[in-house]
Amino acid sequence: KRKRDAEDPVVLEQRVADFNLKEVDVKNFTDLPLSLPTVSGLDASHFKILTDIQAKAIPLALKGADCLGAAKTGSGKTLAFLIPVLESLYRKRWTSLDGLGALIISPTRELAIQIFDVLRKIGRYHTFAAGLVIGGKSLQEEQERLGKMNILVCTPGRILQHMDQTASFDVNNLQMLILDEADRIMDMGFQATVDAIVEHLPKERQTLLFSATQTKKVSDLARLSLQEPEYIAVHEAA
Ligand code: ADP
Ligand code: MG
Repeated sequence: KRKRDAEDPVVLEQRVADFNLKEVDVKNFTDLPLSLPTVSGLDASHFKILTDIQAKAIPLALKGADCLGAAKTGSGKTLAFLIPVLESLYRKRWTSLDGLGALIISPTRELAIQIFDVLRKIGRYHTFAAGLVIGGKSLQEEQERLGKMNILVCTPGRILQHMDQTASFDVNNLQMLILDEADRIMDMGFQATVDAIVEHLPKERQTLLFSATQTKKVSDLARLSLQEPEYIAVHEAA
């Protein structure tokens, strides 16, 4: 029998379980229990050292916790959720047959495109199907592609439209929900839209919420979408 190697999701699952949040000082991405495709994708994208928000959020998210992360613009929040998304689906041996595994919601098309570009870079050695759902194409064109996707990056209005109108769009297997720029999602008046999206999703899931600021509006959104979240805030040095 072939020995289980480092790429085996079962071995990786054990490494994550053994990973002690308090004892391990995370500095480099190689300090984390990550799959080979992710390690290779980060390396090829020249990411080596974690930012503060990444060092705090990624270990908790890898262990499956719901997280509410606040850190200013430019602090590296995108990788803080994209790495846990890739790892969660990899460890679950997600395949094209499993359908939608992760939904990433961004307030604007431009930000969604940026997230998608980073996902393509660091996810290049994974085999997941990822798509962008931000409108601008015909609904029918998007409908045909939706069913094949494992990871979607979307804007709130457009994805809700599909949830309401695309009969074949199945979200019942969803493992992870990401709300990025939660403060802007709220400022742009998407509260009711996000509430309606969450209504469609399975309750048993992991949710990560990131924002540049901590406001009452963000905690309102968190209350409705997160379960016993870990609160992570990165403050600027005085
Ligand atoms: P935020 O979402 O917090 O505004 P981003 O995720 O957009 O921040 O990242 C801001 C910039 O920092 C991007 O150019 C990104 O490539 C870079 N970056 C993110 N993480 C790292 C890292 N660990 N090492 C080096 N650069 C990074
Ligand atoms: Mg961002």
